[in-house]
Amino acid sequence: MTVSDSALDADWLGVCRRAVVGLELVLAAAPSTLERATETGTRGSGGDRTLVIDASAESVVFAELDALSAAGHRFLAISEERGEVDYGDRGVRVIIDPIDGSLNAKRGIPHHALSIAVADGDTMADVVFAFVYDFGPGEEWRATRDQGAWCNDAPLDRDAGERRARDGRLEVLGIESADPRWVAASIDRLVGSAHRLRALGTIATSLCQVAGARFDAMLTLRNGRGVDAAAGQLIVREGGGYVAFPRFADPLGAPLDSAPSTPVIAARSLETLRELEGVPT
Ligand SMILES: [Mg+2]
Repeated sequence: MTVSDSALDADWLGVCRRAVVGLELVLAAAPSTLERATETGTRGSGGDRTLVIDASAESVVFAELDALSAAGHRFLAISEERGEVDYGDRGVRVIIDPIDGSLNAKRGIPHHALSIAVADGDTMADVVFAFVYDFGPGEEWRATRDQGAWCNDAPLDRDAGERRARDGRLEVLGIESADPRWVAASIDRLVGSAHRLRALGTIATSLCQVAGARFDAMLTLRNGRGVDAAAGQLIVREGGGYVAFPRFADPLGAPLDSAPSTPVIAARSLETLRELEGVPT
């Protein structure tokens, strides 16, 4: 059996779907901003202040991983809050962001997502299974390496191209890490590249919008973490798009961990990917 077969041996889609059901209960139990804004008093491995809903959501996912481990599967879990948890095989990595878009979740803004990726190595190129569930619209995005990508079980159109306004600028460009200071630092290039900007507040979901050709492209304006992009980047590539992590010589060489290491850029064409690599970040 090859490594990649064993990585996919477990029922990862079942794990992810059960985790979604559990996370919906966590979110329903704390429906108001006041409840969702409660902090645990600690910081996650990525440095953000941990919300009680983040910690509860992570516990839901780890309960599923514990069950998988008890059934004999071995892997290494890497999660936003807990960092690395060794379940016996560092060759199979499970990269988890229990809630990508915590600020949205806290404020009741629709887009926030569970992101889970499974990899047979330690870089973005090694992701073999990807799952993003966006709790706002209730959309399930997933991909399997070399087999395609789906939204709510409908296959994504690999040939969906980009749209440009009459003046040649991209019709819709997603931006993330949209701190106004970083928007200001990038604004001249954004003026030249985009007819309209959209900032959803979750990297995983923004990547899925490129996968579905709703966005013509997206980029983060600062370094992001592997946990945010690990699943979404495979969904983009299996949906016919292109992805680059520009701090690395190998465009898919970014590490699957929870430290900020590189921006991420995704586009429907290679030409646009190259164009956006020129936006300062
Ligand atoms: Mg998170």
